[in-house]
Amino acid sequence: MHLPELIVGREKLLLAPYAMHSIDSLGRHHPESDHHFRGPYQRDRDRILHSAAFRRLSHKTQVFTGEMGDYHRTRLTHTLEVASIARTIARALRLNEDLVEALAFAHDLGHPPFGHAGEDVLNDCLREVGGFNHNAQCLRICELLETTYQDYPGLNLTREVLEGQRQRTEKRWNRSTGAVSDARSPLLEVQVVDTADSIAYDAHDADDALELGLLDPSQLLCVPLWQEALARLGSSAASLSERQRQKAIVHEVIDWQVNDVIENATQKIATCRIATVKDACHTAWLVAPTPALKEKKTILERFLFDNVYRHPDLLAERKQAQTALRELFSVLANQPKLLPPKFQDLGEQVGLLRAIGDYIAGMTDRFAFEEHRKLAGQPAIGRPSVGLIE
Ligand code: MG
Repeated sequence: MHLPELIVGREKLLLAPYAMHSIDSLGRHHPESDHHFRGPYQRDRDRILHSAAFRRLSHKTQVFTGEMGDYHRTRLTHTLEVASIARTIARALRLNEDLVEALAFAHDLGHPPFGHAGEDVLNDCLREVGGFNHNAQCLRICELLETTYQDYPGLNLTREVLEGQRQRTEKRWNRSTGAVSDARSPLLEVQVVDTADSIAYDAHDADDALELGLLDPSQLLCVPLWQEALARLGSSAASLSERQRQKAIVHEVIDWQVNDVIENATQKIATCRIATVKDACHTAWLVAPTPALKEKKTILERFLFDNVYRHPDLLAERKQAQTALRELFSVLANQPKLLPPKFQDLGEQVGLLRAIGDYIAGMTDRFAFEEHRKLAGQPAIGRPSVGLIE
Protein backbone atom coordinates (compact mmCIF):
# COMPACT_ATOMS: atom_id res chain seq x y z
CA MET A 1 0.00 0.00 0.00
CA HIS A 2 1.29 3.49 -0.84
CA LEU A 3 -0.67 5.72 1.46
CA PRO A 4 0.10 9.43 1.56
CA GLU A 5 2.44 10.56 4.33
CA LEU A 6 -0.39 12.70 5.70
CA ILE A 7 -2.18 9.53 6.83
CA VAL A 8 0.80 7.34 7.67
CA GLY A 9 2.58 10.06 9.68
CA ARG A 10 -0.57 11.13 11.51
CA GLU A 11 -1.33 7.58 12.61
CA LYS A 12 2.26 6.95 13.62
CA LEU A 13 2.11 10.01 15.83
CA LEU A 14 -1.31 9.41 17.39
CA LEU A 15 -1.93 5.67 17.47
CA ALA A 16 -0.49 3.07 19.81
CA PRO A 17 1.78 0.41 18.28
CA TYR A 18 -0.91 -2.21 19.02
CA ALA A 19 -3.54 -0.24 17.06
CA MET A 20 -4.42 -1.29 13.52
CA HIS A 21 -2.50 1.18 11.35
CA SER A 22 -3.82 1.89 7.84
CA ILE A 23 -0.41 1.18 6.32
CA ASP A 24 -0.68 -2.44 7.51
CA SER A 25 -4.14 -3.03 6.02
CA LEU A 26 -4.48 -6.16 3.90
CA GLY A 27 -6.41 -4.05 1.40
CA ARG A 28 -9.57 -4.83 -0.54
CA HIS A 29 -10.74 -7.86 -2.52
CA HIS A 30 -10.90 -5.68 -5.65
CA PRO A 31 -7.68 -3.60 -5.51
CA GLU A 32 -8.15 0.16 -5.75
CA SER A 33 -5.72 3.03 -5.80
CA ASP A 34 -5.38 4.99 -2.57
CA HIS A 35 -7.21 8.23 -1.99
CA HIS A 36 -4.94 11.25 -1.72
CA PHE A 37 -6.22 12.39 1.67
CA ARG A 38 -8.64 9.79 3.04
CA GLY A 39 -7.32 6.62 4.66
CA PRO A 40 -8.77 3.17 3.84
CA TYR A 41 -10.93 2.91 7.00
CA GLN A 42 -12.22 6.45 6.58
CA ARG A 43 -13.30 5.46 3.07
CA ASP A 44 -14.96 2.32 4.46
CA ARG A 45 -16.84 4.44 6.99
CA ASP A 46 -18.01 6.75 4.20
CA ARG A 47 -19.07 3.87 1.94
CA ILE A 48 -21.19 2.43 4.72
CA LEU A 49 -22.63 5.84 5.61
CA HIS A 50 -23.70 6.41 1.99
CA SER A 51 -25.17 2.91 1.52
CA ALA A 52 -28.91 2.32 1.14
CA ALA A 53 -28.78 -0.24 3.96
CA PHE A 54 -27.44 2.39 6.38
CA ARG A 55 -30.20 4.90 5.56
CA ARG A 56 -32.86 2.23 6.06
CA LEU A 57 -31.70 1.78 9.67
CA SER A 58 -33.66 4.95 10.43
CA HIS A 59 -36.94 3.08 10.00
CA LYS A 60 -35.95 -0.20 11.58
CA THR A 61 -36.83 -1.28 15.09
CA GLN A 62 -34.12 -1.41 17.73
CA VAL A 63 -36.36 -2.74 20.51
CA PHE A 64 -39.49 -0.58 20.37
CA THR A 65 -41.46 -0.20 17.13
CA GLY A 66 -42.44 3.07 15.46
CA GLU A 67 -46.02 2.40 16.52
CA MET A 68 -45.03 2.94 20.16
CA GLY A 69 -43.93 6.59 19.85
CA ASP A 70 -41.12 8.74 18.53
CA TYR A 71 -38.85 9.23 21.56
CA HIS A 72 -37.07 5.90 21.60
CA ARG A 73 -34.01 4.70 19.68
CA THR A 74 -34.23 3.35 16.17
CA ARG A 75 -31.63 1.04 14.74
CA LEU A 76 -29.93 4.13 13.25
CA THR A 77 -29.70 6.16 16.45
CA HIS A 78 -28.51 3.05 18.30
CA THR A 79 -25.75 2.69 15.69
CA LEU A 80 -24.71 6.34 16.15
CA GLU A 81 -24.62 5.94 19.94
CA VAL A 82 -22.44 2.83 19.58
CA ALA A 83 -20.10 4.74 17.25
CA SER A 84 -19.87 7.63 19.72
CA ILE A 85 -19.09 5.42 22.73
CA ALA A 86 -16.68 3.29 20.70
CA ARG A 87 -14.81 6.36 19.45
CA THR A 88 -14.38 7.63 23.02
CA ILE A 89 -12.90 4.31 24.15
CA ALA A 90 -10.74 4.01 21.01
CA ARG A 91 -9.30 7.50 21.43
CA ALA A 92 -8.41 6.87 25.07
CA LEU A 93 -6.69 3.60 24.14
CA ARG A 94 -5.01 5.25 21.12
CA LEU A 95 -6.67 2.81 18.70
CA ASN A 96 -7.68 3.51 15.10
CA GLU A 97 -10.84 5.61 15.39
CA ASP A 98 -11.60 5.46 11.66
CA LEU A 99 -11.62 1.67 11.75
CA VAL A 100 -13.73 1.69 14.91
CA GLU A 101 -16.25 4.03 13.33
CA ALA A 102 -16.47 1.93 10.14
CA LEU A 103 -17.05 -1.21 12.22
CA ALA A 104 -19.65 0.54 14.38
CA PHE A 105 -21.56 1.93 11.39
CA ALA A 106 -21.61 -1.56 9.84
CA HIS A 107 -22.35 -3.64 12.90
CA ASP A 108 -26.18 -3.66 12.67
CA LEU A 109 -26.66 -3.21 8.91
CA GLY A 110 -27.96 -6.76 8.62
CA HIS A 111 -30.89 -6.37 10.98
CA PRO A 112 -34.22 -7.13 9.29
CA PRO A 113 -37.39 -5.14 10.07
CA PHE A 114 -38.74 -5.51 13.64
CA GLY A 115 -35.39 -6.34 15.25
CA HIS A 116 -34.93 -9.76 16.79
CA ALA A 117 -38.62 -10.58 16.26
CA GLY A 118 -38.02 -10.27 12.51
CA GLU A 119 -34.76 -12.18 12.74
CA ASP A 120 -36.52 -15.15 14.40
CA VAL A 121 -39.10 -15.34 11.60
CA LEU A 122 -36.50 -15.21 8.83
CA ASN A 123 -34.37 -17.77 10.63
CA ASP A 124 -37.40 -20.06 10.68
CA CYS A 125 -38.38 -19.47 7.06
CA LEU A 126 -34.78 -20.04 5.89
CA ARG A 127 -34.06 -23.04 8.11
CA GLU A 128 -33.72 -25.41 5.12
CA VAL A 129 -31.04 -23.23 3.54
CA GLY A 130 -28.90 -22.38 6.57
CA GLY A 131 -31.11 -20.01 8.58
CA PHE A 132 -30.76 -16.27 9.07
CA ASN A 133 -28.45 -14.26 11.30
CA HIS A 134 -28.18 -10.46 11.28
CA ASN A 135 -24.39 -10.50 11.59
CA ALA A 136 -24.03 -12.79 8.59
CA GLN A 137 -26.59 -10.69 6.71
CA CYS A 138 -24.41 -7.63 7.28
CA LEU A 139 -21.64 -9.40 5.37
CA ARG A 140 -24.04 -10.27 2.53
CA ILE A 141 -24.94 -6.59 2.27
CA CYS A 142 -21.31 -5.45 2.30
CA GLU A 143 -20.07 -8.14 -0.09
CA LEU A 144 -23.02 -8.75 -2.40
CA LEU A 145 -26.28 -6.87 -1.99
CA GLU A 146 -25.26 -3.21 -2.15
CA THR A 147 -25.11 -2.17 -5.79
CA THR A 148 -23.34 1.19 -5.66
CA TYR A 149 -20.42 0.31 -7.92
CA GLN A 150 -20.35 -0.86 -11.51
CA ASP A 151 -17.22 -3.00 -11.28
CA TYR A 152 -18.17 -5.26 -8.37
CA PRO A 153 -21.03 -6.19 -6.09
CA GLY A 154 -21.02 -4.90 -2.50
CA LEU A 155 -18.98 -2.07 -1.02
CA ASN A 156 -15.48 -3.56 -1.48
CA LEU A 157 -14.55 -2.78 2.13
CA THR A 158 -11.11 -3.48 3.58
CA ARG A 159 -10.38 -6.98 4.82
CA GLU A 160 -10.09 -5.70 8.42
CA VAL A 161 -13.70 -4.44 8.46
CA LEU A 162 -15.03 -7.58 6.77
CA GLU A 163 -13.00 -9.90 8.99
CA GLY A 164 -14.14 -8.02 12.12
CA GLN A 165 -17.74 -8.50 11.07
CA ARG A 166 -17.10 -12.14 10.13
CA GLN A 167 -15.74 -12.75 13.63
CA ARG A 168 -18.98 -11.33 15.08
CA THR A 169 -20.87 -13.81 12.87
CA GLU A 170 -18.83 -16.77 13.92
CA LYS A 171 -18.80 -15.66 17.57
CA ARG A 172 -15.41 -17.21 18.05
CA TRP A 173 -15.04 -15.48 21.37
CA ASN A 174 -16.77 -15.47 24.69
CA ARG A 175 -16.69 -11.87 25.83
CA SER A 176 -17.49 -12.57 29.45
CA THR A 177 -14.77 -15.16 29.98
CA GLY A 178 -12.28 -13.81 27.47
CA ALA A 179 -11.96 -17.31 26.02
CA VAL A 180 -11.38 -17.47 22.29
CA SER A 181 -12.18 -20.75 20.60
CA ASP A 182 -9.35 -20.73 18.07
CA ALA A 183 -6.84 -18.89 20.28
CA ARG A 184 -7.15 -15.73 18.21
CA SER A 185 -8.91 -12.63 19.50
CA PRO A 186 -10.32 -10.02 17.19
CA LEU A 187 -8.47 -6.74 16.64
CA LEU A 188 -8.73 -4.37 19.63
CA GLU A 189 -10.84 -2.08 17.42
CA VAL A 190 -13.36 -4.91 16.93
CA GLN A 191 -13.40 -5.58 20.69
CA VAL A 192 -14.09 -1.88 21.34
CA VAL A 193 -17.17 -1.88 19.08
CA ASP A 194 -18.58 -5.07 20.59
CA THR A 195 -18.16 -3.68 24.10
CA ALA A 196 -19.60 -0.27 23.14
CA ASP A 197 -22.63 -1.99 21.58
CA SER A 198 -23.43 -3.65 24.87
CA ILE A 199 -22.91 -0.45 26.92
CA ALA A 200 -25.19 1.47 24.55
CA TYR A 201 -28.12 -0.93 24.41
CA ASP A 202 -28.31 -1.65 28.13
CA ALA A 203 -28.45 2.06 28.96
CA HIS A 204 -30.75 3.18 26.18
CA ASP A 205 -33.18 0.27 26.44
CA ALA A 206 -33.69 1.15 30.11
CA ASP A 207 -34.05 4.85 29.25
CA ASP A 208 -36.56 4.14 26.44
CA ALA A 209 -38.58 1.77 28.63
CA LEU A 210 -38.84 4.47 31.33
CA GLU A 211 -39.93 7.10 28.84
CA LEU A 212 -42.50 4.77 27.28
CA GLY A 213 -43.89 3.99 30.73
CA LEU A 214 -43.08 0.28 30.45
CA LEU A 215 -40.95 0.62 33.59
CA ASP A 216 -41.39 2.63 36.75
CA PRO A 217 -38.23 4.41 38.02
CA SER A 218 -38.59 2.64 41.37
CA GLN A 219 -38.26 -0.76 39.65
CA LEU A 220 -34.90 0.17 38.18
CA LEU A 221 -33.65 1.47 41.50
CA CYS A 222 -33.73 -2.13 42.76
CA VAL A 223 -31.04 -2.97 40.20
CA PRO A 224 -27.54 -2.51 41.73
CA LEU A 225 -25.98 -0.79 38.69
CA TRP A 226 -28.80 1.77 38.58
CA GLN A 227 -28.86 2.28 42.33
CA GLU A 228 -25.10 2.82 42.51
CA ALA A 229 -25.13 5.16 39.53
CA LEU A 230 -27.62 7.33 41.44
CA ALA A 231 -25.36 7.20 44.53
CA ARG A 232 -22.38 8.22 42.38
CA LEU A 233 -24.25 11.37 41.36
CA GLY A 234 -24.08 12.46 45.01
CA SER A 235 -26.05 15.34 46.46
CA SER A 236 -26.46 17.05 43.07
CA ALA A 237 -29.19 14.50 42.21
CA ALA A 238 -31.46 15.77 44.98
CA SER A 239 -32.23 19.07 43.26
CA LEU A 240 -33.11 17.44 39.93
CA SER A 241 -36.62 16.78 38.64
CA GLU A 242 -37.59 13.12 38.25
CA ARG A 243 -36.95 13.24 34.51
CA GLN A 244 -33.61 15.02 34.87
CA ARG A 245 -32.58 12.48 37.48
CA GLN A 246 -33.34 9.61 35.08
CA LYS A 247 -31.26 11.29 32.36
CA ALA A 248 -28.41 11.86 34.82
CA ILE A 249 -28.47 8.20 35.87
CA VAL A 250 -28.42 7.03 32.23
CA HIS A 251 -25.46 9.33 31.60
CA GLU A 252 -23.69 8.03 34.70
CA VAL A 253 -24.35 4.38 33.79
CA ILE A 254 -22.65 4.95 30.42
CA ASP A 255 -19.82 7.14 31.71
CA TRP A 256 -19.02 4.79 34.58
CA GLN A 257 -18.81 1.77 32.26
CA VAL A 258 -16.74 3.62 29.65
CA ASN A 259 -14.24 4.72 32.31
CA ASP A 260 -14.12 1.24 33.78
CA VAL A 261 -13.50 -0.36 30.37
CA ILE A 262 -10.75 2.15 29.51
CA GLU A 263 -8.97 1.67 32.85
CA ASN A 264 -9.33 -2.10 32.78
CA ALA A 265 -8.12 -2.40 29.16
CA THR A 266 -5.20 -0.02 29.79
CA GLN A 267 -4.10 -2.12 32.72
CA LYS A 268 -4.46 -5.41 30.85
CA ILE A 269 -2.55 -4.06 27.85
CA ALA A 270 0.31 -3.12 30.20
CA THR A 271 0.22 -6.34 32.24
CA CYS A 272 0.11 -8.58 29.17
CA ARG A 273 2.86 -6.46 27.55
CA ILE A 274 0.85 -5.92 24.38
CA ALA A 275 3.19 -4.22 21.94
CA THR A 276 1.79 -5.16 18.54
CA VAL A 277 -1.47 -6.05 16.77
CA LYS A 278 -0.27 -9.65 16.72
CA ASP A 279 0.21 -9.65 20.52
CA ALA A 280 -3.35 -8.36 21.00
CA CYS A 281 -4.80 -11.01 18.70
CA HIS A 282 -2.95 -13.79 20.54
CA THR A 283 -4.22 -12.72 23.97
CA ALA A 284 -7.65 -13.27 25.51
CA TRP A 285 -10.24 -10.49 25.20
CA LEU A 286 -8.80 -7.21 26.53
CA VAL A 287 -11.44 -4.50 26.07
CA ALA A 288 -14.00 -5.39 28.72
CA PRO A 289 -15.40 -4.14 32.02
CA THR A 290 -13.87 -5.29 35.29
CA PRO A 291 -15.47 -8.46 36.74
CA ALA A 292 -17.22 -6.44 39.48
CA LEU A 293 -18.91 -4.11 37.00
CA LYS A 294 -19.58 -6.95 34.58
CA GLU A 295 -21.54 -8.73 37.32
CA LYS A 296 -23.70 -5.66 37.91
CA LYS A 297 -24.23 -5.28 34.19
CA THR A 298 -25.39 -8.89 33.92
CA ILE A 299 -28.01 -8.26 36.62
CA LEU A 300 -29.27 -5.22 34.69
CA GLU A 301 -29.45 -7.30 31.49
CA ARG A 302 -31.43 -10.01 33.25
CA PHE A 303 -33.78 -7.37 34.64
CA LEU A 304 -34.29 -5.85 31.17
CA PHE A 305 -34.93 -9.27 29.69
CA ASP A 306 -37.64 -10.10 32.24
CA ASN A 307 -39.26 -6.70 32.55
CA VAL A 308 -38.79 -4.96 29.21
CA TYR A 309 -38.12 -7.42 26.38
CA ARG A 310 -40.96 -9.61 27.68
CA HIS A 311 -43.34 -6.76 28.50
CA PRO A 312 -46.88 -7.59 27.28
CA ASP A 313 -47.01 -4.41 25.14
CA LEU A 314 -43.81 -5.42 23.39
CA LEU A 315 -44.89 -9.03 22.96
CA ALA A 316 -48.13 -7.86 21.32
CA GLU A 317 -46.17 -5.66 18.84
CA ARG A 318 -43.80 -8.53 18.23
CA LYS A 319 -46.59 -10.97 17.44
CA GLN A 320 -48.27 -8.64 14.97
CA ALA A 321 -44.97 -7.98 13.17
CA GLN A 322 -44.03 -11.67 13.06
CA THR A 323 -47.38 -12.66 11.56
CA ALA A 324 -46.97 -10.03 8.84
CA LEU A 325 -43.41 -11.15 7.96
CA ARG A 326 -44.31 -14.83 7.95
CA GLU A 327 -47.28 -14.24 5.62
CA LEU A 328 -45.21 -11.98 3.39
CA PHE A 329 -42.50 -14.63 3.09
CA SER A 330 -45.05 -17.29 2.23
CA VAL A 331 -46.76 -15.17 -0.46
CA LEU A 332 -43.40 -14.44 -2.12
CA ALA A 333 -42.29 -18.08 -1.94
CA ASN A 334 -45.52 -19.16 -3.64
CA GLN A 335 -45.49 -16.34 -6.21
CA PRO A 336 -41.85 -15.42 -6.95
CA LYS A 337 -43.00 -13.14 -9.80
CA LEU A 338 -44.11 -10.69 -7.11
CA LEU A 339 -40.45 -10.11 -6.22
CA PRO A 340 -38.77 -7.04 -7.76
CA PRO A 341 -36.71 -8.05 -10.86
CA LYS A 342 -33.42 -7.51 -8.98
CA PHE A 343 -34.39 -10.18 -6.45
CA GLN A 344 -35.82 -12.52 -9.09
CA ASP A 345 -32.38 -12.39 -10.75
CA LEU A 346 -30.66 -12.88 -7.41
CA GLY A 347 -32.84 -15.96 -6.85
CA GLU A 348 -31.24 -17.52 -9.96
CA GLN A 349 -27.81 -17.17 -8.31
CA VAL A 350 -28.48 -17.86 -4.65
CA GLY A 351 -31.77 -19.77 -4.63
CA LEU A 352 -35.29 -18.42 -4.27
CA LEU A 353 -35.62 -18.70 -0.48
CA ARG A 354 -32.35 -16.85 0.21
CA ALA A 355 -33.31 -14.11 -2.28
CA ILE A 356 -36.66 -13.64 -0.52
CA GLY A 357 -34.77 -13.48 2.78
CA ASP A 358 -32.45 -10.81 1.34
CA TYR A 359 -35.42 -8.82 0.03
CA ILE A 360 -37.37 -8.93 3.30
CA ALA A 361 -34.30 -8.32 5.47
CA GLY A 362 -33.62 -5.11 3.54
CA MET A 363 -37.09 -3.72 4.25
CA THR A 364 -37.85 -1.03 6.80
CA ASP A 365 -40.61 -1.77 9.32
CA ARG A 366 -43.13 0.39 7.53
CA PHE A 367 -42.29 -0.94 4.07
CA ALA A 368 -42.68 -4.51 5.36
CA PHE A 369 -46.14 -3.69 6.73
CA GLU A 370 -47.05 -1.94 3.49
CA GLU A 371 -45.88 -4.86 1.33
CA HIS A 372 -47.71 -7.25 3.58
CA ARG A 373 -50.91 -5.23 3.23
CA LYS A 374 -50.52 -5.10 -0.54
CA LEU A 375 -49.44 -8.67 -1.20
CA ALA A 376 -51.20 -10.64 1.51
CA GLY A 377 -54.41 -8.61 1.21
CA GLN A 378 -54.41 -7.57 4.85
CA PRO A 379 -55.58 -4.19 6.17
CA ALA A 380 -52.83 -1.57 6.64
CA ILE A 381 -51.08 -1.63 10.02
CA GLY A 382 -48.10 0.63 9.44
CA ARG A 383 -47.96 4.09 7.93
CA PRO A 384 -47.93 4.29 4.11
CA SER A 385 -44.59 4.69 2.40
CA VAL A 386 -43.26 4.72 -1.13
CA GLY A 387 -40.05 3.85 -2.90
CA LEU A 388 -38.05 2.50 -0.01
CA ILE A 389 -36.74 -0.50 -1.88
CA GLU A 390 -34.63 -0.12 -5.03
MG1 MG B 1 -26.01 -3.14 18.00
